Amino acid sequence: MSAGSGGDVDLTARLCVELPKLAAAADRHRWAHKLDAAIADVRAGTPVTQALAAHHLPIDLAAAHNGQDQISRGDPGLLDELNIDPVTVTGAYTCPGTPPCPRRAQPDADGHEPRCAIQGKTMILRSR
Ligand SMILES: [Zn+2]
Repeated sequence: MSAGSGGDVDLTARLCVELPKLAAAADRHRWAHKLDAAIADVRAGTPVTQALAAHHLPIDLAAAHNGQDQISRGDPGLLDELNIDPVTVTGAYTCPGTPPCPRRAQPDADGHEPRCAIQGKTMILRSR
């Protein structure tokens, strides 16, 4: 059990980045319905850890969070398996979520705007 206040915003950013990979894994491992339900809760404002726990998802984002900005060692099995990249926190685009997660991103090589997987929306270009 992680007694958690704080840090959840980072988990939201992590989920924002990792959702496409998690969704692919969910399809393979037959927990897509759980993931969908958890994401719906997150969109509705439920903290990420709580939403995942409520739907018995086999994702330990909190453990991965102990690695702070990069998750490159000692990760829980599933995240290892997925070979998830560190969350990007630089770039001109910010998350469209409410509240926004601290994730930042940049257009891809083809110039496509980055999308927030949680919100299902294009990320917002900040004029700095
Ligand atoms: Zn986001």
